[in-house]
Amino acid sequence: MNRISIPDSGSAVLALDLVKVIDDNSAYLSEVDGAIGDGDHGINMRKGFDRFAVLASEKNVQDASGGLILLGATLLNEIGGSMGPLYGSFFKALGRKAKGKDIDAQVLLEMLKDGMDAVMSIGEAKPGDKTMLDALAPGIDAFEKAINGGSGFADALNSLAAAAAAGADATVGMLARVGRASRLGERSKGFRDAGATSCALLLTQMSGTMKELLGN
Ligand code: ADP
Ligand code: MG
Repeated sequence: MNRISIPDSGSAVLALDLVKVIDDNSAYLSEVDGAIGDGDHGINMRKGFDRFAVLASEKNVQDASGGLILLGATLLNEIGGSMGPLYGSFFKALGRKAKGKDIDAQVLLEMLKDGMDAVMSIGEAKPGDKTMLDALAPGIDAFEKAINGGSGFADALNSLAAAAAAGADATVGMLARVGRASRLGERSKGFRDAGATSCALLLTQMSGTMKELLGN
């Protein structure tokens, strides 16, 4: 039977599944960062996510919200570079909003919006600046449009993942306005953004795990 929401309790897999996608794509993410950054994005992310996996097992985390909050806190503490505070605050915001709730489409939308607000308030970047926001913002937008258009949760999750991936692809044509790549000016065009690439991978995995939890 297909559910319409995911219980917070017992759904720690939501955060735990993200570890594998970062491990599997770590070399690729560093390669992407190498073109217009310093080539450490995959290494940075892997360090944080792997540490989270260890802590989650030690603390025996069980809930979706607890997993996301621990992931956020670990990334804040463990990741060097720009991404620790940004992804750290993102996942913490997601977890805080989910705490004690059944995660339905509306709750997930609120979680993602809180996460994006956190990233924007800390990093002061906007969509279009060639950052992780260029996967996140179109993903959230498509998810919201799908829900408002009457799509079920699983279909809306497909829209979220597809739009995030398309958004990350579209960073190739963008000029970097913040972060390390912005120092290259016009030369930052023609390459994908590393943070948008990791963000699309994470949202795609999250959407896949949620569909499984929903029974779709
Ligand atoms: P660093 O740039 O310190 O080497 P990483 O390589 O881990 O850190 O991450 C680079 C990514 O960080 C970029 O591709 C970009 O998506 C993201 N980023 C940088 N600055 C910001 C910001 N102010 N807001 C949102 N994302 C940002
Ligand atoms: Mg880097």
